[in-house]
Amino acid sequence: MEFPVITKKWGKSIHKLDIVYPNLYYGGVYSLAMLIFYNYVNSLNNWQCNRVYLDKGKLSAKLIGFTLNYELDYMNVIKILKLNKLPLTKDRDEILFAGGNCVTSNPEIYSELFDFLFLGEVEESLAKILDIYEKFKDKPTFLEKIKDIPGVYVPGKTKHKTYGIVKDLDKIIYPLYQPLPKILSKEFVFGSSFILETERGCPYKCKFCMLGSLSKSVRQRSLKKIKGIIDKGTKLNKRDKVIIYAPSFVHKDRKEILRYMLSKGLTFSVPSIKAETVDEEFISLVVQGGQKTLTLAPECNESLRFKIKKLVKDETFFKVVDYANKYKVKKLKYYFLLGLPGQTMNDLKETVELIKSLKTKFKGQTYVSFNPLVGKPMTEFSGIVFDKKKIKTQALYLKKELSKIGVKIKIPSVSSSEKEYKLANLKGSILRLR
Ligand code: SF4
Repeated sequence: MEFPVITKKWGKSIHKLDIVYPNLYYGGVYSLAMLIFYNYVNSLNNWQCNRVYLDKGKLSAKLIGFTLNYELDYMNVIKILKLNKLPLTKDRDEILFAGGNCVTSNPEIYSELFDFLFLGEVEESLAKILDIYEKFKDKPTFLEKIKDIPGVYVPGKTKHKTYGIVKDLDKIIYPLYQPLPKILSKEFVFGSSFILETERGCPYKCKFCMLGSLSKSVRQRSLKKIKGIIDKGTKLNKRDKVIIYAPSFVHKDRKEILRYMLSKGLTFSVPSIKAETVDEEFISLVVQGGQKTLTLAPECNESLRFKIKKLVKDETFFKVVDYANKYKVKKLKYYFLLGLPGQTMNDLKETVELIKSLKTKFKGQTYVSFNPLVGKPMTEFSGIVFDKKKIKTQALYLKKELSKIGVKIKIPSVSSSEKEYKLANLKGSILRLR
C-alpha cells in the first residue's frame, strides 16, 4: 500500500501511459522523472499513468516510457521488455519511448529499440506529445506528427536534433504526489521524505561531469514557489523531512529556503556541499536541519583539481572542516576520483597528504570514497580510455597508504565501473547487449 496516490474519476475515454524505472522499486520511488510523469499525466482529465519497476508492476499501456539515468540499467530495459513479452523490435503495436541523461548524451544507440526519444527536459514536449497521441493513435501518423517538436527525436524522421529545456521552472507543474509504501525497509535510503527540486542546471563545468555539460543554463524556482511547494508537499504527503535535489545547490536563496523549513519544524538533507559557496551560517542551518553527515567532493589534489576545471583550493575544504567542528558535525564524507587523465603518482601522494590533513583537523569521523573516472559522452573526458590496470594499481596504493592513518576508504568494483564505461560509450545499438 502506497501513500499518497492520485485517485480520480476517469473520463469516458481513458488514454494510458506506463512509465518505467528500469531498476528496483526502493530506488525508483525517489526518481524525480518518475514522479514528474506520474503527476503530470494523471493531472490530465482523460489520462492515466501507471508506474512500473523492474520488480513491481506490469506493462499494460500502448504508450510506454523508460527513464534512463544509469548506464548499468540498460540490461534491465531488455529484461523488462522480455518479461512483459514485448518484441525487441519496433515492429509492434505499442509505442515505446525513453528519456534521461543516458538517452540525451548518446541517443543513437536507442534508435533501433525505441520509437521516439526525449532529449533534455520533458515537461514542455510531453504536453504536446500527449495531445497528439489523443488525436492520432496510428503509430506512423503519430510519429510523423511529433517529429519536429523541440526536444523530441524520432529516429529516421527528425532531421535536426533539439534539446528540451524548461525556461521558467515556476510555470511547470510540480510533482507534489510522491507515493511511498507505508512500511519502509532500510533499503529506502531517503526514508519517509518529500523531494524538493530547487533548481536545474549547474553553473560549474567540471570536465568529467555529464550533469555540468548537459545543463545548458541554470534555472531556479522562485523562493515564493519553493515555499508553496514545501507547504503543500509536506502536508499532502504527511512528511516532516525534505530531501533537496539540486545538482550543486547554488540557489540564490538557499539559506532562506533552509530557514523556512526550520521555521516549519521540518528536518532536511542537502546534496553534496559546494565548499566554495558555503559559509558558517549555511553549515549551522544544515546541522539544525538534522543532517549529521556532510559530503564534500575535492575529487583529487589541488593542482590536478584545477586542471579538471574544479576551481576550488584546498583551503576552502579546510574552512568547511572548521565550521563542521564548530557545529559538531558527526561525519564528513569526501569523494575522490581515480583514473583521471594525467593523474600521476605524485598527484596520489598529494591526495593522501590532503586526506591526512583533513582527517587530523576534523573532530568527527572521516570517510573517503574513490570512484574510477568513467569518461562519458558529451563531457570533456569523452573518449578517455578506461585504464583498468592503472586504476587497480592506484586503488591498491591508496588503500595501503590510507589504512596507515585509519581512514575508512570505499572503492566501488573496478569491473563494474569498466562495464559502465563500455555501456556509456557503446556504439551501434543496445540490442547488441541481448
Ligand atoms: S561535479 Fe557538481 S559542480 Fe561540477 S559540474 Fe557536476 S554538478 Fe556541477
